[in-house]
Amino acid sequence: MVSRETKAYDAIVVGGGPAGGTAALLLSKAGWSVALVEKAVFPRRKVCGEFISAASLPLLAELGVDASFAGAAGPPVRRIALYSGEVIVDAPMPKVQSAGAGWGRALGREQFDLLLLDGAARAGAHVWQPWRVVSARRSGGRWICSVAGETTQDLSAPVLIGAAGSWDRGPFPSMEHSSRDDRKLLAFKAHFRDFSLAEDLMPLLAFPGGYGGLVNSDNGRVSLSCCIKRDVLDQCRRAANGRAGDAVLHHIGRSCAGVRQAIGRAKLEGAWLAAGPIRPGIRAPYLRGVFMAGNIAGEAHPIIAEGISMAMQSSWLLARHLIASGSDLMAGGDPTRIGRDYADDWRATFGLRIHAAALFARLAASRRAANLCRPVLQKFPMLLTLGATLSGKTKLLTQLSSSSGQESARLNMY
Ligand SMILES: Cc1cc2nc3c(=O)[nH]c(=O)nc-3n(C[C@H](O)[C@H](O)[C@H](O)COP(=O)(O)OP(=O)(O)OC[C@H]3O[C@@H](n4cnc5c(N)ncnc54)[C@H](O)[C@@H]3O)c2cc1C
Repeated sequence: MVSRETKAYDAIVVGGGPAGGTAALLLSKAGWSVALVEKAVFPRRKVCGEFISAASLPLLAELGVDASFAGAAGPPVRRIALYSGEVIVDAPMPKVQSAGAGWGRALGREQFDLLLLDGAARAGAHVWQPWRVVSARRSGGRWICSVAGETTQDLSAPVLIGAAGSWDRGPFPSMEHSSRDDRKLLAFKAHFRDFSLAEDLMPLLAFPGGYGGLVNSDNGRVSLSCCIKRDVLDQCRRAANGRAGDAVLHHIGRSCAGVRQAIGRAKLEGAWLAAGPIRPGIRAPYLRGVFMAGNIAGEAHPIIAEGISMAMQSSWLLARHLIASGSDLMAGGDPTRIGRDYADDWRATFGLRIHAAALFARLAASRRAANLCRPVLQKFPMLLTLGATLSGKTKLLTQLSSSSGQESARLNMY
């Protein structure tokens, strides 16, 4: 039974990151009444390298935020590089064969997430912010979510979408699938000014105990993000006798000549951010009646810089399944078949990226593997281009799989 004070919607989306913003926007555009609940006040910084692949640009156009993205993002990234030890090697970024694609670019999460959230609100979603979903239960074919903000309130809907990211599962059950080794990695991120990095270059950093990336972002800043094993971090902190961020930078700089050249004399802008441990792996895109999108469904090691794209693309896949079966769901139909189809599509679309990222992460963080790989990459730099292709950088929405047998049409299905 829905109580009198409960606000009723067609769908409740928990989390306003790239997955939640995209899902709310697409469902609202399709005429659904949507509540998006986000606990944080935006704009907010986030531990993330901020790079968005070219393959996601057509989706940004579908979402109606492409022009704002293009106006705010950093320069086009046309080359990738590897900085490892004294080795600096670069290769072309694989080109996406699509009229609307162009090149990937980076934009701070304080701006990017707001773009999507504003787009969802413009499309008609009711944005509850800053409100936090504290519980979710099923009653009479609907989900009842309690949300806490200035007061507490109940929201109800037949469809519940979990898009709460990696670290705070909110009301959702724990779905740990990452290995114990992966869970030892902590994540760091900082912005720098007065650096020396070619505009079109995105270097991957391989160093003992971790990996990272550098990229030119918005407003003339460079973003450095990385993951480092907890025990290596502890050693670095003891050796540098300093704060975690400074110790991480010292370790990466000592391990990669390219980093010393690029940001050895740069100025830190703002504070270091830290998060983690990261939890890469495939979890459950559909679980006990809840549809999951973005990191909560599964995440790749950030070494491939695909998490934002995967979050948005998974919401696109989900929206396609939900819209196709909307009337059935609204009439209280069983979501299991739709959930199973979506989960199959999710695994077929993102499985390879997640496994490839796990392999690259192991190679990058191991001193022995890096010693073996460096001469090979120096001789065959195009392997970097191949790696970027394997990590999904050229996979367009029109190529995403379709276990439900529907036409893999673009979003103009609305
Ligand atoms: C070091 C590092 C570097 C990275 N670099 C890149 C990169 O360059 N490119 C890239 O594509 N990806 C990158 N990623 C990955 C990327 O950051 C994530 O994959 C992406 O943020 C996932 O989006 P999401 O929407 O699933 O989750 P999130 O972005 O985490 O959003 C989840 C939202 O849910 C909200 N929330 C949580 N619980 C509740 C609740 N109970 N009630 C209400 N709201 C709630 C949170 O406040 C948050 O805003 C990187 C990650 C790391 C760790």
